[in-house]
Amino acid sequence: MTVKTYELRTFGCQMNVHDSERMAGLLEDAGYVRAPKDADAADVVVFNTCAVRENADNRLYGNLGQLAPKKASRPGMQIAVGGCLAQKDRDTIVRKAPWVDVVFGTHNVGKLPVLLERARVQEEAQVEIAESLEAFPSTLPTRRESAYAAWVSISVGCNNTCTFCIVPQLRGKEKDRRPGDILAEVEALVAEGVTEVTLLGQNVNAYGSDIGDREAFSKLLRACGKIEGLERVRFTSPHPRDFTDDVIAAMAETPNVMPQLHMPLQSGSSRVLKSMRRSYRQERFLSIIEKVRAAMPDAAVSTDIIVGFPGETEEDFQETLHVVREARFAQAFTFQYSKRPGTPAAEMDGQIPKQVVQERYERLVALQEEISWEENKKQVGRTVEVLVAEGEGRKDDSTRRLSGRAPDNRLVHFTRPEEPVRPGDMVSVEVTYAAPHHLLAEGTPGPVRRTRAGDAWEMRNAQPQEETPQGVMLGLPTVGAPAPLPADTGGCSAC
Ligand code: SF4
Repeated sequence: MTVKTYELRTFGCQMNVHDSERMAGLLEDAGYVRAPKDADAADVVVFNTCAVRENADNRLYGNLGQLAPKKASRPGMQIAVGGCLAQKDRDTIVRKAPWVDVVFGTHNVGKLPVLLERARVQEEAQVEIAESLEAFPSTLPTRRESAYAAWVSISVGCNNTCTFCIVPQLRGKEKDRRPGDILAEVEALVAEGVTEVTLLGQNVNAYGSDIGDREAFSKLLRACGKIEGLERVRFTSPHPRDFTDDVIAAMAETPNVMPQLHMPLQSGSSRVLKSMRRSYRQERFLSIIEKVRAAMPDAAVSTDIIVGFPGETEEDFQETLHVVREARFAQAFTFQYSKRPGTPAAEMDGQIPKQVVQERYERLVALQEEISWEENKKQVGRTVEVLVAEGEGRKDDSTRRLSGRAPDNRLVHFTRPEEPVRPGDMVSVEVTYAAPHHLLAEGTPGPVRRTRAGDAWEMRNAQPQEETPQGVMLGLPTVGAPAPLPADTGGCSAC
């Protein structure tokens, strides 16, 4: 019997990346193998979709349209669509693209192999969208992309109602995992060689509301601190409303919780925050930053900002610039507001003309670039321990330089050490140059600390690798390695 291949195409946020790892695990458990990158088409193509972006549906139907002739010429090929857009559009997908075999939602990821099989046997499209969560995705089989870093979901859903965001409608109310289950997963990952975990939730600071413990998140961080072999703990995303002092204390007092905070601002104007239904104000946001800096002077703080929310005036925008100057973010993910169908903000009066949004956006980016660069320059001369990454190196000089993340999540390109080094190993380097978005360490690096994560990477890649005089060539894709923050998001970094 020939083995069937699969290909997964993931759009959107870390939550989708996390779910895609589960989809891959489920398919591999069911006997599918991942299609080689250069394959013309896989036997099963799965889209894990995002509904956050404007035109997300056009993007999906464009992709589906391209696959239609391939499917027509390849008997037995199947196409499945899951994720947020599937949850939202349901039957519409098979109406618009009748060559789709399976549509499944955010709550029933575990059904994917069964639905594929049913569609095959019954020779008709299967659309199954659950209204509430059937199983925490974390309990499903997984095929992690990284050998040394992993996402661990602590909750799904969100109880907030930000007016620009469609996530609560699609992912439902917050549901927390039990701390014991989370810690058991982290321990199992560490036993497999993982040294870095990123705790994942739409609003990690609300973790515990479902299990009746308001300090559950800080306790979870401290408990992670006791797991031997776990070197780096990160989390995303916190919400300023629920950010409590016990979390700051846990971050500062737990050595393996990294000195890094990604906290979405969205707007610096309290008036706009109110209209966004973000239940904190400028003063609260800045006071959290102040406390974080007092407890962890070297912490790198990053954020998400939306420019041009309906009704935003020049004065409101000046408030955002004010917060950016005060907070001195190491990095900001900036978005031009765009209507997201189904959200209250899409119907609001005072939509801002495109050219005004663009002009404000450019001013914000210019200011943030300046601050990022200034903050990065403060790193020059410091010695940092870099977790060697795969796939983040500059393409032009990957044989001379390696790349990785410092504890504060800054990207560092450094001279390749003489001794062999693998992704997941640690190298101490001295920062010699700062650019706005990365650091360089051009001198001779310190000794390589070979880690169990590096061993795990080596075992996973035991098939023949291209050897260089210094060791194994790096450069495999980093999909799923948690270090980089949002790419294709438009609200919180988790959504
Ligand atoms: S933006 Fe984040 S906090 Fe707000 S509703 Fe969406 S997921 Fe929840």
